[in-house]
Amino acid sequence: MTKKYSLSMLILSVFLLFSCENGKKAQKTSAELKSISGNEISVPPFNADSAFSFVAAQTAFGPRVPNTAAHQKCALYLQNKLRGYADTVMVQEFQMRAFDGTILNGKNIIASFNPKNEKRIFLSAHWDSRPFADHDPDAANHKTPIDGANDGASGVGILIELARLLQIQKAEMGVDIILFDLEDYGTPEFAPRTANSENTWALGSQYWSLNPHYPNYNAQYGILLDMVGAKNAVFRMEYFSMLYAPQIVKDVWKTAATLGFSDYFLLENGSSVLDDHYFINRNSQIPTIDIIQHDSKMASGFYEHWHTLNDNLQNIDKETLNAVGLVVTQVVYQER
Ligand SMILES: [Zn+2]
Repeated sequence: MTKKYSLSMLILSVFLLFSCENGKKAQKTSAELKSISGNEISVPPFNADSAFSFVAAQTAFGPRVPNTAAHQKCALYLQNKLRGYADTVMVQEFQMRAFDGTILNGKNIIASFNPKNEKRIFLSAHWDSRPFADHDPDAANHKTPIDGANDGASGVGILIELARLLQIQKAEMGVDIILFDLEDYGTPEFAPRTANSENTWALGSQYWSLNPHYPNYNAQYGILLDMVGAKNAVFRMEYFSMLYAPQIVKDVWKTAATLGFSDYFLLENGSSVLDDHYFINRNSQIPTIDIIQHDSKMASGFYEHWHTLNDNLQNIDKETLNAVGLVVTQVVYQER
């Protein structure tokens, strides 16, 4: 993904309905989560070690760059893994043209739970990794593909762990886990920018949002995870998420606060990110939020190793996977 607009466009009035806590990082257990909000909600225990192992399995293939063997092998791994957990798994194959004219063979992988339930939500992340480390401090690496342990694999790892939980304990809602392909093949810094450059990102979700995996697919809302595994990550309320789905953002951030994760989920407006949720909001009208790390101290606006060769497994932190995983799991199981 990439940033879309300058900061001056990002001033958005938000009336916060809940207060900000700045407590220490809480290490909640499943037992503590069971009766949040006073309701008797049984939430299965999200396991960050398990999520981490799913991140590691993806990066072990090497960079998941479209049209490569590693990409193909990882697609099979993800399908097989999800087939072990979900009621149905569908692979949506499609082709899109990259910024340089390359025809990319994409696969969106869609795992469904409770497929007959019309009340649905979807959870998503992108599973491809970027072909270019075009923000690496060493210019010699700019055309080298990245592992994308955080940029891609972290969100997928959390969602596979959630799939494992959904098999053990059904949620009330229908749930679709959608792993988008071709998110990160956008115009690199070293290529000329064109009027169409913005549309070279998030090709898999662009395709899906115009060609859903079945006609008239609908969900009450969607949550996208992107870069959710770095140490001490912070998630601000991203601009397009607040524009299209402010109540979903507030509910998720409130759940995070209730679980003691307000030092990850900051009650601050973030900048706008051109990520999968942007095209989904624009094309499919399913209100969709993006939980994505922002760091205004970084020139890129993202986390330290964004689009560098250091976006690797060594820089994935289980505590962050745990925080995001617990929040999303709680959101899924409290929804009815
Ligand atoms: Zn990226």
